Amino acid sequence: MKTRQCFNCGAHEGMRHFEGRGETISVKGMERRVDDLSGWECQQCHEVEWDPDTDSAERYGQASDELVIAARQMIGTEMKRIRRKLHLTQKEAVQLLSGGGHNAFSRYERGEVLPPKALMLLMRLLDRYPHLLADAKVLGEGADLRGGFNPIEHKEHEVLGTS
Ligand SMILES: [Zn+2]
Repeated sequence: MKTRQCFNCGAHEGMRHFEGRGETISVKGMERRVDDLSGWECQQCHEVEWDPDTDSAERYGQASDELVIAARQMIGTEMKRIRRKLHLTQKEAVQLLSGGGHNAFSRYERGEVLPPKALMLLMRLLDRYPHLLADAKVLGEGADLRGGFNPIEHKEHEVLGTS
């Protein structure tokens, strides 16, 4: 069996060579299987290094990237479904629920950006208890003070009270 030192934990002969391995990567309940991987794995710290002269790293990385994109799109589809169920436009959803830029919701729904966990949780709560939307509208009043201050400019002599 081919062994060598692990450069991660330093275990002497910790790294053992493997080939023909299949691995299943999972993200948020979705899975991708990648077969015929070869590389080294440390028996002590489980550090894995793909064989540089194979396409293992590339195929494993590609499967991981696909999963992340698929997960964002799945979340985006869910966001859109709930927003429509609540009869909100994307703009209303931003004003009422998320704050942020005016196109924040469209970016979430297209799967470009993963929404913050708090927003996702809020959407799922409103999905389960849609009647709470009325409360959200009331409670949301003044909850976001970012950009809410409008300074009123006074003329100099007005402030000083001179005539
Ligand atoms: Zn190690």
